Amino acid sequence: MKIFDTLIGNEEIKQTLGASIASSGFSHAYIIEGAPGTGKRTVARLASAAIMCKGEGRLPCGKCPSCEKILNDKCVDVKFCEITKVEQARELKARLYDSTVESDYKIYIITDAQKMNIKAQNALLISLEEPPKNVVFFILTTDAGALLETIRSRAQTLRTSRLSDDVIFDHIRKTRPDIRLEDGKLKEIIMASAGSLGYAMDMADAKKSEGLLSRRSRALDFVCAVLRNDNDAVSFLMSLSGTVRDELKETISLSLEIIGDLISVKRAKGSTLYFFASREQAEEIASNYSLSKIADAYSALEKATEDLNSNASQGVTLMSLLINSAKKGN
Ligand SMILES: [Zn+2]
Repeated sequence: MKIFDTLIGNEEIKQTLGASIASSGFSHAYIIEGAPGTGKRTVARLASAAIMCKGEGRLPCGKCPSCEKILNDKCVDVKFCEITKVEQARELKARLYDSTVESDYKIYIITDAQKMNIKAQNALLISLEEPPKNVVFFILTTDAGALLETIRSRAQTLRTSRLSDDVIFDHIRKTRPDIRLEDGKLKEIIMASAGSLGYAMDMADAKKSEGLLSRRSRALDFVCAVLRNDNDAVSFLMSLSGTVRDELKETISLSLEIIGDLISVKRAKGSTLYFFASREQAEEIASNYSLSKIADAYSALEKATEDLNSNASQGVTLMSLLINSAKKGN
C-alpha cells in the first residue's frame, strides 16, 4: 500500500508513522520536530487523514469524505491549536472527553509547541497522561528540547527533514505552474530557503522574491566592494547604519555566507555552497583574491556580528571594523 505518497522526502516518517497507522498500531501522542517550513503541519494533516480514512488503495486515500475534510482543514474533530498560556491547556483538558462530532477519533494538532510556557506544558501533560482512547495528539515544534522531559517521554518524537535543493526545484516546477521565475532566480531562492519547501514556495511569490533577490544581490555587491578595498563598502554601510537593525544583521549574515562560499571554492572543488546557486559565479569572484584576503574579510565580519549582537550602538564599531578589513593587504 502506498503510504503518505504525497509527502515529499521524509522517508523516515513515512516508514515509522505511516506504517504504524497502516497497522493500526499508532500511539496516542507524537512530537513532530523540524525547522520551519519542513512540513510538520503537512505530516500531522496526512497522519490525521490516514487515521480516519475510509477509502482503499493508498493511505490516506485523499478521496473519501473524511480525507477531503481533513486535508482541507474542514473536519471539526481535527483541531489545530496554539497553546501559549495555561488557560488554553486547561480548556483543552476540559473538552477532552466531549464526544466526537463526525469521526471515530478526535485529533489535536498543537502548533508552535516551543512557545508553551512551563505552566501550560504541565497542564497539557495531564491530558497526555490519561487521554481517552479515541484521542490523538500531534505536538509540532521547531525544538523538542523546549518541551518538558515528562512530555517527551509520553510521546514518540519524529523529525521532519530538510529537502535537497533539487527535490524542492522539481516539486515547485511540477506543482506550481503559476510561479514563472526563471530557473536561475528560482534556484537562488531555493538556496536562501535552506531546505525548507514551505519557505521556498512562499518566497517564490513574485512580489516577495523581488525583495529577497535584491537584498541578496546588495549583500554580494557589498562583499565585492570590501574585497576590492573599495570606498563603496564604506558608503554602503553608512547608508545601512541608518536603517533597521534587522536589515543590517541580515546583510552581515548574508555576507558571511558569501565569503564562506568563496573560501570553500578556493579550498575544495566539491564543497557545499550556501549562498551561490552557481558555483561558476563563486569561482570567478574568488579567483580575483587571495585566500588570506578573503579570510581577513571573514574574520572582520564575524567580529562585526558579535559586536552587533552585544553592542547596542551598532554603526560605529561595525564601520571601523570593515574599513580596517578593507585596508588590510590584498
Ligand atoms: Zn480517505
